[in-house]
Amino acid sequence: MGLLALGTPLPWDEAKKYADHVRTHGITQFLHIWERLKDRSGDELLWGDEIEYMVVAFDNEEKNAKLSLRQTEILQKLGSIVDGICSDCPDNVSPPTFHPEYGRYMLESTPGSPYTGSIQDLLSVEGNMRYRRTLVRKHLKPNEIPLTFTSFPRLGAPGQFTEPYCDPAGATSSHSLFLPEEITNPHARFPTLTANIRTRRGSKVTINLPVYVDKNTPRPFIDPTIPWDRDIYPEDREAREGAALPDHIYLDAMGFGMGCCCLQLTFQACNVSDARRMYDGLIPIGPILLALTGASPIWRGYLADVDCRWNVIAGSVDDRTPGERGLKPLSESGDRFRIPKSRYDSVDLYISDNILNRPEYNDTYVPYDEAIYDRLLKNGIDKLLAKHIAHLFIRDPLVIFAETIDQDDSVSSDHFENIQSTNWQTLRFKPPPPGSPIGWRVEFRSMEVQITDFENAAFAVFVVLLSRAIMYYNLNFYTPISKVDENMARAQQRDAARQGRFFFRKNVYPPGSSAASSGSSSPVDGAPAKKEKKLRNCFDPPVLPADAFESINAHAVEEEYEEMSIDEIMNGKGIEFPGLLGLVHSYLNTLDIETEDMNKIHQYLGLVRRRADGSLLTAATWIRNFVQAHPDYKQDSVVSQEINYDLLVAIDEIERGVRKAPDLLPEYYKGGNKDEGSIGI
Ligand code: ADP
Ligand code: MG
Ligand code: MG
Ligand code: MG
Ligand code: MG
Ligand code: MG
Repeated sequence: MGLLALGTPLPWDEAKKYADHVRTHGITQFLHIWERLKDRSGDELLWGDEIEYMVVAFDNEEKNAKLSLRQTEILQKLGSIVDGICSDCPDNVSPPTFHPEYGRYMLESTPGSPYTGSIQDLLSVEGNMRYRRTLVRKHLKPNEIPLTFTSFPRLGAPGQFTEPYCDPAGATSSHSLFLPEEITNPHARFPTLTANIRTRRGSKVTINLPVYVDKNTPRPFIDPTIPWDRDIYPEDREAREGAALPDHIYLDAMGFGMGCCCLQLTFQACNVSDARRMYDGLIPIGPILLALTGASPIWRGYLADVDCRWNVIAGSVDDRTPGERGLKPLSESGDRFRIPKSRYDSVDLYISDNILNRPEYNDTYVPYDEAIYDRLLKNGIDKLLAKHIAHLFIRDPLVIFAETIDQDDSVSSDHFENIQSTNWQTLRFKPPPPGSPIGWRVEFRSMEVQITDFENAAFAVFVVLLSRAIMYYNLNFYTPISKVDENMARAQQRDAARQGRFFFRKNVYPPGSSAASSGSSSPVDGAPAKKEKKLRNCFDPPVLPADAFESINAHAVEEEYEEMSIDEIMNGKGIEFPGLLGLVHSYLNTLDIETEDMNKIHQYLGLVRRRADGSLLTAATWIRNFVQAHPDYKQDSVVSQEINYDLLVAIDEIERGVRKAPDLLPEYYKGGNKDEGSIGI
């Protein structure tokens, strides 16, 4: 979520009148940034993570685990503590920052200042994450725990799932059958976003997840916990009139998706061209890491046949009108575009100006605003970037504050960010904020948050090293966007990490690299004469042989990829394809790293390798197994209040290292917050 400007948000009927105003000025603002910063170069690697938590209140008598709605108080407290902390901080340490999130039970934390490319910083990530978790933990009530857990299993289920109890009848912004108004961050932005999405769309959001069919699951499964006959809001009839599908878990509110927790990473690039190359390089990685980090198999009290949150969030903010969704002819609906995807979805366009980026890879229908596109071209933006921006700008701004409609476009980027930051894609290309020292950045957004900071650090370390390998070797991961989209769908299926097949490129080396010509898998270019002390950001522009264009275009695109398992994609296939971990290890060979530090890095990469080869379970599978082995489970897909309680107790115990989970974590995981004491059972 972007910065929380204060003000009076306009209801949809008012806000929509300013849509063109926001778009026009948003583009002006982008052009100002572009003019000033298009040639900026030489930025060092700075990077950081975002970790989201849900605060769970345990009731050990009732055996219930509930979401604690104390976000406002908790953030206030953390804010004042953080202000006080750094009187005694070492010079190079800034206190972490805590941010609000959509759910009133959620917190987000980021490091106080971004990590640099130093190996020391790389190895500090886990400690940094743990420090943040410990800070939160210390300032909660004794029965509250901040869990890094992707989706709350009984969110929207019968009974009490929030502390305090709130009645869904009062859900004035979502009109949900299941989630009370109080689930949402009370800051005006969030209820307005919720209500405006529903109003623009013309109905409640609609998500149907296939239920996991177990031995005793009734077939067809008609969910008895849906209040089918409720009659409070006009939309109450949607469920009974077809929105809720048989054999599915029906969700009807933004909170189901935006109430999920994830792990995001942002990397600063040397310059805009590198940012575009890194962005493209990471696009095909999005679905692979979604599958590997899958952690959300339970929804509204039922086991689902999916492992991930992604489609739930996509559906939960899908503000497209029936015309945009293709349910009505555009001529009738008055909409400007047929729009294939929600504003929260996978990336639609590769944007690098690198010659590896063949036009054929952008092979899906991508509507874009032609007037904006032309305006960008006229102002010197190239076609690829212009199309990217003009595509983001087909969306309407959803929340407009009366006080900030008129802005100074030479110093503000608020209107630009209004559209940009409500296009929630797997990757985000982030221009420098005006008036800041920050450069061009790329954000990697697909991963689900992991139970422990050891795992969160492991995935962060893996992705930052992979991003270096992409830049250092000029790796070519290009696979048509339609296949990446297909991979996104496959990544969410149950047990995709072990059983899924994903389209991936067979030859990832650019023309002229020694590995490509010799067929050896690593290292790609041989280690440099002098090993580097840190993760570099600026590399010489890739030099390609004279016939590069011919060799890049030698084969039909369809011959460039094949279907592979996650194990093959990560750990390699034959001698030709070293796997993403092979590439990362090659890159590590170019660095001068002390043995002890290298061992630590290998522990992180070892977790990723073992998740990929199936010798360790994903969180999703572990959670599913826990439920299925629970004495209260009746093989009917139902995750009861008691199972939920025991599961979340177990999750906390795993995090602290007091409960062993050898099928989830390697034996060297020793626990994060042992000293914090148990929740008092
Ligand atoms: P958003 O919610 O818009 O994605 P946040 O502010 O929550 O962004 O998180 C941004 C992340 O980027 C943090 O981890 C922060 O440490 C990191 N970061 C800050 N400055 C830079 C920079 N110059 N380059 C790269 N990352 C940065
Ligand atoms: Mg967030
Ligand atoms: Mg954030
Ligand atoms: Mg933010
Ligand atoms: Mg983010
Ligand atoms: Mg999709």
